[in-house]
Amino acid sequence: MPDCAEEIFVTGLVQGVGFRPFVWRLAQKLGLHGYVRNCGDGVRIVVAGPPDQRAALVEGLAYPPARARIVTIERSMVAKGGWQGFTIEASQPGAVQVGIVADMAVCTACNAEIADKNDRRHQYGFTNCIDCGPRFSIVTGVPYDRTRTTMAGFSMCSACGAEYANPQDRRFHAQPIACPVCGPQLTFTSDQHGSSQVLGDAALDSTVASLLAGQIVAIKGIGGFHLACLACSEVAVDALRARKHRPTRPLAVMVRDMPMAEVYASLCAVECQALEDVSAPVVLVRKRRACSLAPNVAPGMERVGLLLPYTPLHVLLMQKSVSHWL
Ligand SMILES: [Zn+2]
Ligand SMILES: [Zn+2]
Repeated sequence: MPDCAEEIFVTGLVQGVGFRPFVWRLAQKLGLHGYVRNCGDGVRIVVAGPPDQRAALVEGLAYPPARARIVTIERSMVAKGGWQGFTIEASQPGAVQVGIVADMAVCTACNAEIADKNDRRHQYGFTNCIDCGPRFSIVTGVPYDRTRTTMAGFSMCSACGAEYANPQDRRFHAQPIACPVCGPQLTFTSDQHGSSQVLGDAALDSTVASLLAGQIVAIKGIGGFHLACLACSEVAVDALRARKHRPTRPLAVMVRDMPMAEVYASLCAVECQALEDVSAPVVLVRKRRACSLAPNVAPGMERVGLLLPYTPLHVLLMQKSVSHWL
């Protein structure tokens, strides 16, 4: 059949990883017509075009986005539709068998944006893109689409909408896309001097000021709350332990970056690699004897659990606070 339509059904970790934009680019390059769509049990690609081009698309699937994990690819011939070009179609619910990828640590490109004074996401704590940010924590159902995430209540502004619709943009079909205009905002609440609430950048500054003053802050992240305090203050750590009724359990320490991790621990190559992994794990490492960490962070232990900031909010908090206490 010289010019037929084919369905290519892909299962595995293929939603929330930029898979549909990836297929879209591939199909565009090969001049194929048809569509790609998320289903409850995988991703359905339907393409019309010459056999060689269709085969090239399947070959191209061997090099998916970094976070994708393809388990199966099934090919079957289908009736040709009147497709003009290649599109990303609305999702179709089905048997819920698709894998949801884990949340991912903020990527280098997003970090560069929040550090750039001229970028519209400068210092925006909820910046994310197709390569990073929350996935599992925000999903309320499958197929993975914005309407089935906790971002459903935030309507995209026109700038975010343009990025979301632009195949050349790394936020093309990035479901948690957000910016200071349309996305979640920071709020800081304290009952220290009567109940008070501050918003935006002031919330960030108040959080840093509270931490530096030895107070405890519950920081809402993408997967829950972190109870945070200054790790070099024995008094602050004691207060946290008393409130949580955790007299001795080792606590994890967030460090700003790798050079800061080296200040507290001597790291081997494997430990460095683990710390910088996209899953941003807590890594148990050998504590330096002379470091400034409060002894009650991990009482009686030679090791300490370190982790790097994994959300833009963490990045901003660490940048604003660390210079004061290193
Ligand atoms: Zn990113
Ligand atoms: Zn926006």
